[in-house]
Amino acid sequence: MPGTFKTEAIVLRSIRYGEADRVLHLYTPDRGRVGAVAKGVRRIKSRLGGRLEPFSRVKLVMHEGRGELCTISQADSVHAHASLRERRASLERATQACEAVLRLLDSTEPNRPAYNLLCNELALLDQHAEAAGRAQALAFRLKLLLAAGFAPELASCAACGEAEHLGAFSPSAGGVVCAGCEAGSFPLGEEAHRFLAGALAKPLSETPQAHEAALAQADRAIAETMEYHAHVRLRRVT
Ligand SMILES: [Zn+2]
Repeated sequence: MPGTFKTEAIVLRSIRYGEADRVLHLYTPDRGRVGAVAKGVRRIKSRLGGRLEPFSRVKLVMHEGRGELCTISQADSVHAHASLRERRASLERATQACEAVLRLLDSTEPNRPAYNLLCNELALLDQHAEAAGRAQALAFRLKLLLAAGFAPELASCAACGEAEHLGAFSPSAGGVVCAGCEAGSFPLGEEAHRFLAGALAKPLSETPQAHEAALAQADRAIAETMEYHAHVRLRRVT
């Protein structure tokens, strides 16, 4: 139904469009993914311009017409995340986070935990240079999987329920597996297992640390779970 509405949003991606416009991919708390056009934003005198950069958290007034794209008529900044843009590593992590949301949550179905998670990740990347480490990037992906309904089973064997000897991970079974259910799995050491469980249980700001080898195993477990269950392939977190 055509009309005007207000929403908060994170700008996931911004694409040049026509002479002076931009098409924005937005993630919103109440409407999930929204596509919008921001008219004239590439003109120097634009009122909207600077507030609609990627990674910005904004309050918007939008008009919904008959077409697929809404039109933005007003934008107020909630958090510009200006500091993260000054650090290459933080900027890359923010790009990865937005890319993961773009690929994994592409519907208009609202998902408030996913929205809050993205806001939290961007705020942490903005406030702390050290938030751009590999561990937190992996924790973000794992929590995003949880928000999207694809969290791996980590407490007991995903195939038979056995609680001990969980030394492997099976994407098709959907989590850690015991020695008897190893078919189609790869090794997941104790440290990687502990990292995944801790990252899922703790807030993003308290992401546990782990050695590179354990993080590489955790990365594989997260990536293959995403590929197998959500059919989304993202670049690995390095
Ligand atoms: Zn088993």
